[in-house]
Amino acid sequence: MTTILTGKTYDIQGFSVQDGPGIRTTVFLKGCPLRCPWCHSPESQEFKTELNWMSIRCLGCDDCGKCLDACPRGAITRGVPTENAAGEPIVYPEVDKSKCDECGACTKACKANALYMCGDDRTVDEVMRRVLRDQPFFEESGGGVTVSGGECLCQPEFTLELLKRCKELQIHTAVDTTGFVPWNVLESVLPYNDVFLYDLKGMDSALHKQVIGVPNELILDNARKIAAAGGRLWVRIPVIPMFNDSREHFDKYGAFLTEIKDALDIVQLLPYHKMGVSKHDRLLKKETIFVAEPPSDALMQSRREQLEAYGLKVRVH
Ligand code: SF4
Ligand code: SF4
Repeated sequence: MTTILTGKTYDIQGFSVQDGPGIRTTVFLKGCPLRCPWCHSPESQEFKTELNWMSIRCLGCDDCGKCLDACPRGAITRGVPTENAAGEPIVYPEVDKSKCDECGACTKACKANALYMCGDDRTVDEVMRRVLRDQPFFEESGGGVTVSGGECLCQPEFTLELLKRCKELQIHTAVDTTGFVPWNVLESVLPYNDVFLYDLKGMDSALHKQVIGVPNELILDNARKIAAAGGRLWVRIPVIPMFNDSREHFDKYGAFLTEIKDALDIVQLLPYHKMGVSKHDRLLKKETIFVAEPPSDALMQSRREQLEAYGLKVRVH
C-alpha cells in the first residue's frame, strides 16, 4: 500500500513580502520545539490540530449556546457574565481544555464560526496546487515559496518534498527555521533551498534555555555549518524588551554574525509587537503570555547602526 505524504499546516499565505525576496507564498507548518513567550503565531506551537475560539464572533450562551450541548466530554459550560466588545452584557461559553480532546464537534455546531479548528493535513499536491496559482507573481518580482512554521523542519520529509517540487519548477525557495533541528535535516534540504531565513533569538545560552526552553549552541553551530556548506542566510533577530535588546547583547550578535558574514545576505531586525496576544487568547490557554511595550524607533535605529558598524547589511523589518 502506498502512503501519501501529508504535512500539518495552519495557513498558506500569498503575497507575502516579509518572508524572503520578492512576492512569496508562505506555507506555515504546525509544531515548534521552542516556546518563545512573545510568539506572534502561538497557534503554530503545538503539532496537533487545536480548538480555537474568537470572542468577537460569539453570539453568547443566551442568544445561541449551541456549543454547550454539542460537546460529548462536557468541556463547555456557561462562563461568568461579562461584556462584549460593544459594552453589552453577555455570557460567553467557557472551554475546559483539560477535558477537551479536540474532536471538533462543537465547531460543527457553531454556525458563527466562533469555534474553529486550527491545523489541516494537506498533501504535497494540494499545497503545490495552491502555490502555483501565485507563480506569475514570483516570476515578476523575483519571489517564490517560503516554508515556515512553527518549525517546518520538524516535518522534514514534507518540507523536503515541497522544496524538491518547487525546484523542479524552477521556483525560488526559502526555509524559515529556528535552527534548532539536527544538522542532517538541514543538510538534506540544502541542495533544494535557496536561502535560510534563520532566527537568532538570543546569544546568551543560559537565558535562552531559561526563557525559550532550549539552549542556543545547536542553533549557532548549525548556522556556522550552513555557511561552511555554501548555504545563504537571512538572519532574523526579534528585538525583545528585557531579553536581547541591550547594547551588550547586540555586541554578541555582531561578533557572531561577523563569523558567518560571507554567507549572510542581510540581517533583519524584527521589533517585538503584541499581535500574538489575541491569538494566544483564541487558543483558550490559561497560561499568561509575555506582554511589553514594543521597542522605540530610536532603539531599533540604534541597534541597526550598531550591527552596521560590524560591516553587516541590516534592515529593520
Ligand atoms: S473540540 Fe473539545 S470542546 Fe469541542 S466538542 Fe470536542 S471535546 Fe468538546
Ligand atoms: S455555538 Fe458558537 S456562537 Fe454559539 S455560543 Fe457557542 S461559541 Fe458562541
